[in-house]
Amino acid sequence: MDIIHLLPDSVANQIAAGEVIQRPASCLKELVENSLDAGATKIDVIVRDAGRTMLQVIDNGKGMSDTDLRMAFERHATSKIREAADIFQLTTMGFRGEALASICAVAQVEVQSRRPEDETGSRLVIHGSQVIEQEPCACPVGTNFKVKNLFFNIPVRRKFLKTDQTELRNLLIDFYRIVLVYPKVQFTFISNDEILMDLPAGNEKQRIEDVFGKGQKKSFTSHFVEIHSDTELVCIRGFVGKPETSGKNAQQYFFVNGRYMRHPYFHKAVMTAYQGTLSQEANPSYFIYLEVNPETIDVNIHPTKTEIKFQDEQPIFQILLATVREALGKFNVSPSLDFNRSGYIEMPVGGTAPKSAPLTTHSQPYNPFAQSSERMRTLDWQTLYTPPVAERTPLQPAQQELFEQTVAIDKVYQYNSRYLLMPSEQGLMMVDQHRAHICVLYHTYMHQIAENQSASQQLLFPEVLSVTPDEVPIVDNLLDDLRKVGFDLHQLSPNSYSIQGVPASLDSKDPVATIRKILSAVVESGQSVQEQWQKQVALTLAKDTAIPYGKQLSQAEMTDLMTRLLALKQYRYTEDGKTVVSVLTNDELEKKF
Ligand code: ADP
Ligand code: MG
Repeated sequence: MDIIHLLPDSVANQIAAGEVIQRPASCLKELVENSLDAGATKIDVIVRDAGRTMLQVIDNGKGMSDTDLRMAFERHATSKIREAADIFQLTTMGFRGEALASICAVAQVEVQSRRPEDETGSRLVIHGSQVIEQEPCACPVGTNFKVKNLFFNIPVRRKFLKTDQTELRNLLIDFYRIVLVYPKVQFTFISNDEILMDLPAGNEKQRIEDVFGKGQKKSFTSHFVEIHSDTELVCIRGFVGKPETSGKNAQQYFFVNGRYMRHPYFHKAVMTAYQGTLSQEANPSYFIYLEVNPETIDVNIHPTKTEIKFQDEQPIFQILLATVREALGKFNVSPSLDFNRSGYIEMPVGGTAPKSAPLTTHSQPYNPFAQSSERMRTLDWQTLYTPPVAERTPLQPAQQELFEQTVAIDKVYQYNSRYLLMPSEQGLMMVDQHRAHICVLYHTYMHQIAENQSASQQLLFPEVLSVTPDEVPIVDNLLDDLRKVGFDLHQLSPNSYSIQGVPASLDSKDPVATIRKILSAVVESGQSVQEQWQKQVALTLAKDTAIPYGKQLSQAEMTDLMTRLLALKQYRYTEDGKTVVSVLTNDELEKKF
């Protein structure tokens, strides 16, 4: 008997829904994006019990015909692209055609929609992918989408939802990310009959003020400096916080072509611009809007579309850094506007740039167009570090890979029990020992999580971790990842766990303190995606177990650390954007004498 068969669509959709719809907030995001794509100028979001019982999005967009309304819920049904190449010229938020199919697979959906050219609208009811009814109805132009009892047919998922308070926060996080890029659209957000947000149409500045400025003495935006720059590669606009108003709860937003994105690398550019102006703990707020040619970015690398790949990442990094610096300098908020110092050295240079070329010529302004973007790809360590023994003949790609892993490092010097110094082709390479080790460990732990191979050391006397009720679901969700990095946790009572094993690398450190740090890192990250949580677990543990400053290292230890660091694809910054490697170029060195 043959045993392979195709899954019914309703089952396939339910599985696919797991990727797109994780919580009410993902639902909100998809529905509001659809309304924007439909050209709405007014969008109302109404939720009950943080979207768990009901989430409604009402728009005045172009509506759908009755046939389109039915089609919209099929998987891969979209009016926005026709062929794969279209995704590189996107002008809409959606394009995958899977949101509605996913939502209707896991909820009870009721939609009314009418196009301006139609006399009557159409009403459609779908429960768990099953059409319950469709009929003509009287309704205003636009679309009214009601999603009830999310995950009614997947109890496990429903249980996975957090407290209403947390889910409401998640809803608002996604709401902000959208309304901040669409200031011309009027929005309201109503939760359990209370109007939480009432945002009239305006410009970006007014929108930021309306969202974050509530109940503050001084206007929120007076804490900001405007930035602006227009180049062929990118147009940058936005607002960056004055250093003195930076605090712990920073609002940091990047948008590209009208879409929110996370971009740790560009974040690094902004932070570099602030260098020397902030106290240790302070974090500046920023709202930065980038416009680039849609053909030069790839938004398709992640289903929730918050991670975006840029073709011209490095020149944009540099332009962004210069733009923010200049703005901070113009308003006299930055003590040093000396472009010739630190910032440029950290700029990753083109991987295939001629070896004799200086890193940057400081006497002339940086010109991203002088080099083709092809040459400005990610820096590989070869350009930075050329082993003294190697003949400088070009390597074949296969050889290169091998070579990358077996780089022979001759001698490393330790300075001040804090930095490792090493000669490289372009100058003196200076490495922060603690952060270098964080980078290496982070990758080890991420690997353990991915490969499910833990190295746990059983404790003779188990420790007890007590948690608050709202931390319980977080710990439960983390249990598996914690186990993969070596923590062996068992629930003792509703609010406590016994720690019976710890990662071998944790040594004699307090495991309770480390797990506490992981918990707060996860909460602070405000992320709801499992993958982001794993990153927090790996990063926090790496920080806790990395070689501290002040530790004398033997030559063997230093060589080992450098070898492992340089074998990483990305070793210039830690996962949270701290500089690991800096280079004092030969040019700069010579100038000093
Ligand atoms: P995508 O947005 O990726 O195209 P969706 O599943 O989110 O896929 O939506 C499917 C289609 O349904 C859209 O392409 C659009 O034609 C239509 N649609 C969805 N929401 C609306 C709306 N609020 N107004 C008008 N049309 C809509
Ligand atoms: Mg969509």
